[in-house]
Amino acid sequence: MTGCLIALIPALALAQSDSKGDPAKTEVWAPVPAAVATPQGAAPSDAVVLFDGKDLSAWEGEEGGKPQWSVAGGAVTVVPGGKGIKTTRSFCDIQLHVEWRSPAETKGFEGQNRGNSGIFLQGLYELQVLDSYNSATYANGQAGSIYKQAIPLVNASRPPGEWQVYDVIWKAPRFSKGGGLESPARITVLHNGVLVQDDTVLSGKTEYIGAPSYFPHGCAPIGLQDHNAKVSFRNIWVREL
Ligand code: MG
Repeated sequence: MTGCLIALIPALALAQSDSKGDPAKTEVWAPVPAAVATPQGAAPSDAVVLFDGKDLSAWEGEEGGKPQWSVAGGAVTVVPGGKGIKTTRSFCDIQLHVEWRSPAETKGFEGQNRGNSGIFLQGLYELQVLDSYNSATYANGQAGSIYKQAIPLVNASRPPGEWQVYDVIWKAPRFSKGGGLESPARITVLHNGVLVQDDTVLSGKTEYIGAPSYFPHGCAPIGLQDHNAKVSFRNIWVREL
């Protein structure tokens, strides 16, 4: 114990002398962060724009081929039965921005059938898209949930028919050469600017039935789900981390 105290004294003395010394000693000038332009309402200058409101050139059908969703009015909308779409490019660790809108007409649609879609990170892990405004469903399946794995911290949903925003930080899972899990996937999500997933650890790929588990894989496309609801998307961009 005495030894510890004695060891602390020189550090304390140094801190005191530094506070009266040269402030430049604690200034770090390199590396200089790269400049990124952040125009209002548009993607940052270093982002990969996945959908700018005009065309689906960055996308294909979930089973390949031309994506069957409709593009109009600066948005792309699910064509129920047209199957999901996925990016032509693969991604691992990313920052992702997606704006989405569930249909204004909700009559006859409840729970999981109300404005359901989803964002599939690496094609396997679903961040749920759903109209959860005054609409009950299981909590780990509502908007902002990691489907059947993680309940959002709060329900930040806007009314159906209004545009909503997800900002996502995604850390891909890592696997050893032998295929074992080295580190699980992690996700942080802001829903309309509100934190709903805080560095959440995933237990594996999304499962509708049963417990999630991992299998080894690499970088993969981002998918958007067709769940028989006319959900629209716009202003989709990604930054590779
Ligand atoms: Mg879904």
